[in-house]
Amino acid sequence: MNELQSPGKETRSRQALIVGGGFAGLNAALQLGNVKGVEVTLVDRHNYHLFQPLLYQVAMAGLSPADIAAPIRSLLSAYQNISVLLGEAQSVDLAGQKVQFDFGELNFDYLVLACGATHSYFGHNEWEKYAPGLKTVAHATEIRKRVLSAFEHAERITDPDEQKKYLTYVIVGGGPTGVELAGAIGEMSRFTLSRDFRRINPSHTRVILVEAGPRILPMFSEQQSNRAARDLENLGVQIWTSSVVTNINEEGVELGEERINAATVLWAAGVEASELGKSGGMPVDNRGRVIVEPDLSIQDHPNVFVAGDQSSFTHQTGNTLPGTAPVALQQGTFIGKTIREELTGKPRSKFRFHDKGQMATIGRSRAIVELGRFKISGFIAWLAWLVVHIFYLTGFKNRVLVVMQWAWSYLSFRRGARLIVDRDSSSEPPKAPEAKPEEEVPVSSEP
Ligand SMILES: Cc1cc2nc3c(=O)[nH]c(=O)nc-3n(C[C@H](O)[C@H](O)[C@H](O)COP(=O)(O)OP(=O)(O)OC[C@H]3O[C@@H](n4cnc5c(N)ncnc54)[C@H](O)[C@@H]3O)c2cc1C
Repeated sequence: MNELQSPGKETRSRQALIVGGGFAGLNAALQLGNVKGVEVTLVDRHNYHLFQPLLYQVAMAGLSPADIAAPIRSLLSAYQNISVLLGEAQSVDLAGQKVQFDFGELNFDYLVLACGATHSYFGHNEWEKYAPGLKTVAHATEIRKRVLSAFEHAERITDPDEQKKYLTYVIVGGGPTGVELAGAIGEMSRFTLSRDFRRINPSHTRVILVEAGPRILPMFSEQQSNRAARDLENLGVQIWTSSVVTNINEEGVELGEERINAATVLWAAGVEASELGKSGGMPVDNRGRVIVEPDLSIQDHPNVFVAGDQSSFTHQTGNTLPGTAPVALQQGTFIGKTIREELTGKPRSKFRFHDKGQMATIGRSRAIVELGRFKISGFIAWLAWLVVHIFYLTGFKNRVLVVMQWAWSYLSFRRGARLIVDRDSSSEPPKAPEAKPEEEVPVSSEP
């Protein structure tokens, strides 16, 4: 028995090992808190639980990282039977019932894998350095740095073509994250920054949302997708549908013969599950998600569960459940409950997802909401989006801070977290000659 797993506790307790403290892992742990007969160890490579649906607000300088992240340790501190460890899982040994971490090995009676997903560049990992994706706090602060630095750089240079390049933002991927990023840049350039610069006019910024499919937000109805497109266009965003990116480099984006010169390219196009499932010899689908049974365990290993973005569950509709927070949250809760009830001899049930609808936000006061045939859009939808996101935000302090931040940003059109904190001169674009102070630098007004 591993000392880390049961410091001074009875050895008869079952050991539940949870890897990942996102929506799925955290909610599995919460179900097992203070439950007799089980010792829980939750391991995450970060010491915080991150509310990813608001990550774009950090990337777009609306919120600070601490507003949307809470220490996992403190979220679980009320439960004496739960230990939280900081570490990265490297491999799973199903037969030996153990997981190898960067700090050592842990055994398990029950294993819950909830490591989430990361973005996929469809075999072009070399694009990542030119087009960061948005998945972690580090990604969000990197994107914030690039977006803000491009405006700063444009203000410093005189060459109109170069300026145009620095004031062109391309977002690849027309799903909810791409739409949120494009809307936020459109809004920031037209409202928040418009009075702050002297040599450039930020409202002449080009924001281009590139989508390979025929329309943005394909998971929504056509009517809602069209409404979102109109709202984005009102914020100055150009939407290029049926456009496939063929290359990304330091000059911008290529779409076959077409090229867009852009200093800032953001990736919101594809995701693939954590590699841990595949490397452990588990059955996986074409996106690396572990194929699970109706009770979320894996075939021939009823004590090993996989939840959230890392799992592929098809037993309800025939289609794989989407990688969303409600799916992860409900699956984590189900698994925790299953383990808890099994300890008292109850038989297992099948997981069923309760769909509470989907929503996406566009800029500061517009959104679309859809639940079956019920659809709303515009300001009312945005209010609904706001309430839901604040309700689900983990930790009371976060909620209060976020509401205050939003209220201030909404009333003042400002973005409080507009800081470039780690300006790295090596990642700066090449230095152009400084404009003389008396020179007014004209900016092309072409869209
Ligand atoms: C920018 C963005 C916006 C989104 N917006 C929405 C939205 O509006 N609505 C919605 O429903 N969903 C949204 N999602 C999707 C939603 O956030 C995910 O579906 C959800 O977070 C999945 O939860 P999870 O627990 O499976 O994984 P995650 O929340 O990703 O958690 C995985 C955890 O595992 C840890 N981990 C990963 N690998 C290891 C390892 N090897 N060892 C140890 N720990 C590890 C990570 O640090 C992380 O804490 C968004 C996602 C992103 C990225």
